[in-house]
Amino acid sequence: MEVFEQIESEVRGYCRTWPTVFETARGCRIVDEHGRRYLDFFSGAGALNYGHNHPALKRALLEYLVRDGVVHALDMYTTAKRAFLDRFRETILGPRGLDYKVQFPGPTGTNAVEAALKLARKVTGREGIVSFTNAFHGMTLGSLSVTGNSMKRGGAGIPLVHGTSMPFDGYLGDDVDTIEYLESFLDDSGSGLDLPAAVIVETVQAEGGLNTASFEWLGRLANLCERNDILLIVDDIQAGCGRTGPFFSFEPAGLRPDIVCLSKSLSGYGLPMALTLLKPELDVWEPGEHNGTFRGNNPAFVTATEALRFWEDETLSRQVAEKAAVVTDALDVLALEHAHLGAETRGRGLLQGLRFESPELAAAISEAAFERGLLIETSGADGEVVKLLPPIVIEPDDLAEGLALLSESVAAVLGREPVVA
Ligand SMILES: *Cc1c(COP(=O)(O)O)cnc(C)c1O
Repeated sequence: MEVFEQIESEVRGYCRTWPTVFETARGCRIVDEHGRRYLDFFSGAGALNYGHNHPALKRALLEYLVRDGVVHALDMYTTAKRAFLDRFRETILGPRGLDYKVQFPGPTGTNAVEAALKLARKVTGREGIVSFTNAFHGMTLGSLSVTGNSMKRGGAGIPLVHGTSMPFDGYLGDDVDTIEYLESFLDDSGSGLDLPAAVIVETVQAEGGLNTASFEWLGRLANLCERNDILLIVDDIQAGCGRTGPFFSFEPAGLRPDIVCLSKSLSGYGLPMALTLLKPELDVWEPGEHNGTFRGNNPAFVTATEALRFWEDETLSRQVAEKAAVVTDALDVLALEHAHLGAETRGRGLLQGLRFESPELAAAISEAAFERGLLIETSGADGEVVKLLPPIVIEPDDLAEGLALLSESVAAVLGREPVVA
């Protein structure tokens, strides 16, 4: 591990949580160089919804590489890109009655967000963007300006401007309606909030502590945006691609956002790929006005096309819902046992976790899990949430094994409490 500590920058992060050197991986298992196997409930922060090295995706990728398929092509037309667009339209957009144009920004999530923000400003001629408390939208300046976390914001080193943070669903307690709150700012010419170009929102704040917006809240937000001529951007980078069940996390809320950001599990294989989806009437870009060298990561298009096979019917969505219920049940037991520590089940779908009052407890549980061969990370403003992110295609036995390891880890850190229901 020496070389990492000697020459890799101090900025490195996840490797500090899991101090070993990983070598191979398959499905929900990742193996380090000493042959120690770990159950992976981190899944590349949601970039590996179909697990590591899924055989069908790998086959498609290898066949493409073996026949010298184009690997890098900027935004030139390729057969791989055509196949992806055809299938995306056929499998995702068409059946949902969604009419979007597809922009390929740079291949990371923050690229998709930057493109969305730029476009919203260009379309409306306005500068401001409303985001929400505990939002996370990426680490480049535009995305940081709509991100909540003060440590990450501080890294910008310059003022982050033209973003206004408003309270997310539940942020001010159960008694405060935060849509009414936002509405009162928009309606009042004395509020100090200029009419924004867009509102950007996550349906479940994955990095921000698994805070979940209710479908009703999301519907009212969309309505508020529409009435005020504000564009609605849904950042579905982590909650999308089936993580909460449906392909888009906003489907059950009946939303039709003006702009949608996708990345993380889009390629399905951990290869960088991102999309910004925009309503056709918003497509005011000049050719080349937004661009980037790695927009044509064709191997990612190949695996993404193959991954869309999971979405040809409802099976996967249904399975995610079933597994999510298993996770909720297991977390609720732990939350009840440790209610005196403020333990609480959070999240939706296979994006759930256990929140504690103390971030130290969450960190200790993650560490205890690692010792037992389970990778789980923490999330939230101070890392107070133990966050479970198994592959969405995980087998029920593996899921049960992970939940048992989590339960053991919690018991190792906190002891067992008698449950008084
Ligand atoms: C990960 C993430 C991003 C940023 O994606 P990068 O690929 O890390 O730039 C943006 N929004 C959400 C919701 C994310 O989870």
